[in-house]
Amino acid sequence: MRQLKFIAIAALFLLPVLAGGAAEMRFPPPDFQTAYKIPDLYVPPSASSNGMWDAIILFLALAATTWMVFKARSRKGLFILSIFSLAYFGFYRTGCICPVGSTQNVMAAVFLPDVGVSVAVLSFFVMPLLFSLFFGRVFCASVCPLGAMQELVAIAPIRISPALDRTLGLGRYVYLGLAVLGVATGSGFFICRYDPFVGIYRLGHSYGMIMAGAVILLLGVFVARPYCRFLCPYGILLGWMSRFAKWHLDIPPSPCVNCRLCENSCPYNAIDMPTPAHLVENPEIGKKRIRGLVFASPVIILIGAVAGWSMYEPLSRIHPTVTLSERIAAEDAGLVTGDTLESRTFRAGGQTTAQLNAEAMGIRDKFKTGGAWLGGFLGLIISLKLIGLSTVPKREIYTPHKETCFSCGRCYPYCPVEAVPKRA
Ligand code: SF4
Ligand code: SF4
Repeated sequence: MRQLKFIAIAALFLLPVLAGGAAEMRFPPPDFQTAYKIPDLYVPPSASSNGMWDAIILFLALAATTWMVFKARSRKGLFILSIFSLAYFGFYRTGCICPVGSTQNVMAAVFLPDVGVSVAVLSFFVMPLLFSLFFGRVFCASVCPLGAMQELVAIAPIRISPALDRTLGLGRYVYLGLAVLGVATGSGFFICRYDPFVGIYRLGHSYGMIMAGAVILLLGVFVARPYCRFLCPYGILLGWMSRFAKWHLDIPPSPCVNCRLCENSCPYNAIDMPTPAHLVENPEIGKKRIRGLVFASPVIILIGAVAGWSMYEPLSRIHPTVTLSERIAAEDAGLVTGDTLESRTFRAGGQTTAQLNAEAMGIRDKFKTGGAWLGGFLGLIISLKLIGLSTVPKREIYTPHKETCFSCGRCYPYCPVEAVPKRA
């Protein structure tokens, strides 16, 4: 009995070897009769084990940043951590895996059948969100390589008007909506495809993307973190989580004395100031305005959905099959001269133009539904923003805005309450 057990276990371990041997016998290498030699088999290192190490390092970096933000309250420490994150997650790991891009992997697993998501990618998506839920956007403070790169170049930041800031900030919602639409319709992963910094991390990319990265960094010298504030789709999710943060960074470590010294210290317009007396109004007036906007919201959402639906044709051009079908039609009609790599490849394949057009039509139909969802989502966001702006909350002290504050610590040194215990 014991011997049988031993043979069974040994067979289990030897099974792959035996299977390999059987495969070799079933598929002997061909005799080429030329000088050609079959190249050695290259087995790449396991991506998942790298991913798990990255996830552990991400956790440690988030924990260290949280400590710097809450306990050490050190802008210098956060700056050093930013350099580490940029070096490791940016240049060494070439920006992949990245929580910003992982949003699309998670969306693909939600929307597309037969698509899964690895534990490492899922942990990259979830971990910064969980930290945000408890401690605010510590990921943005010094762990995100995209944020770190922008933070390091923001050496002469100016403050733009809050109204312009908010308007440009709507770009993030459009980008998030387009990214979801791109994944749900199988058009591609836009966040990764148009990551402006990946060309810099990898020291090579298309000319256009390297130029885009350079322009954003140049702009970021004066308008701090333009990608984070006006484009980053993951920042929206982090901001939503941070709104409910159990603990959040405060400018003074003890009660604010309203000295106004930190008033202009935040280049991100993320400090909520005490409400001026002339703006304080009867709460009933604010409530009335909110009621009006709540009733108007379904109309705004509907207008958005109809506008999105009607945009299905231009939107569908983000799908390569639709652009190919239009290109083939234009070439056949003599509207364009020459061909492209895609059109040449199509003509060399077995698919007919009618089949391609039918496929493109099916994709356009998907964009009707997707466009309506995108428009409705943007309508909802505009309604919520209007509701948020319709009341003037009464504030008495300077506090970081939980959703927009990057926990960067730039405002720490401006606060005299902060300085006292350090000098003591
Ligand atoms: S806003 Fe986006 S890009 Fe900026 S630091 Fe946060 S996650 Fe990174
Ligand atoms: S910690 Fe927040 S409030 Fe302070 S400067 Fe940074 S983003 Fe602004």
